[in-house]
Amino acid sequence: MARLPILMYHTICNHSSNSKGLTLSYDKLEAQFKYLVAQGYTSLHFRDIEKFKHTNDFPEKPIIITFDDVYVNQYEFAYPLLKKYNLKACFYAPFSFLGGTDLWNNGTEKLMSVSQLKDLDPSVIELGLHSFAHRPYSSLSLESIQEDFKKCHDFVSKHKLNISNVLAYPYGNFPRKEPQKTQFFEELVKQNIAYGLRIGNRLNKLPLKNNYELNRLDIKGEDSLFKFKMKLKFGKLSLF
Ligand SMILES: [Zn+2]
Repeated sequence: MARLPILMYHTICNHSSNSKGLTLSYDKLEAQFKYLVAQGYTSLHFRDIEKFKHTNDFPEKPIIITFDDVYVNQYEFAYPLLKKYNLKACFYAPFSFLGGTDLWNNGTEKLMSVSQLKDLDPSVIELGLHSFAHRPYSSLSLESIQEDFKKCHDFVSKHKLNISNVLAYPYGNFPRKEPQKTQFFEELVKQNIAYGLRIGNRLNKLPLKNNYELNRLDIKGEDSLFKFKMKLKFGKLSLF
């Protein structure tokens, strides 16, 4: 059965000794990209998926590469590598922090500015939503979630950003309990969101079914290339 792996990356650093947790080194990222190209994967944007929806005409080995939080280090390290290997990726921006630091975390990493986001070639990078304030949706009232969406839409129109209707949930978090879960998904429909990304560490079956619970593979800084290959093939594996 056909599968769609969605890779999830965060910080990219230039020293392999710092490759740990959410931070992955440049050389490991390059080795992974090289592997994807050698194995014949076709990287897609979510906009491409819309085209395949009715024909189910996916390429043989589709993959979606995603980066959360639009760090400057992604601009410096990941973006040139993507261009070098002719790969597409999707970047998810928490708008209130653009040009500043990741204050929801420890505030040490810089985020891209609006002009840096606009500088990204849209044939390489598809931009998507990552909420305005980077708060976990399960901790917010429906009213606060609606306010956050409004701030996103205002920001996008004010800065004339080209944003796809794809939302990466901050921390991969969304309401799991009813009735909040159904209310949240109904709100995503109202907000014209086509795809919602959780973590889950599983491969997605094609054709895609539950578009608001798409799974991403969490690629860790300490992962060996072998472990990367295993994740890509099998998703979550307790053995590794
Ligand atoms: Zn994030």
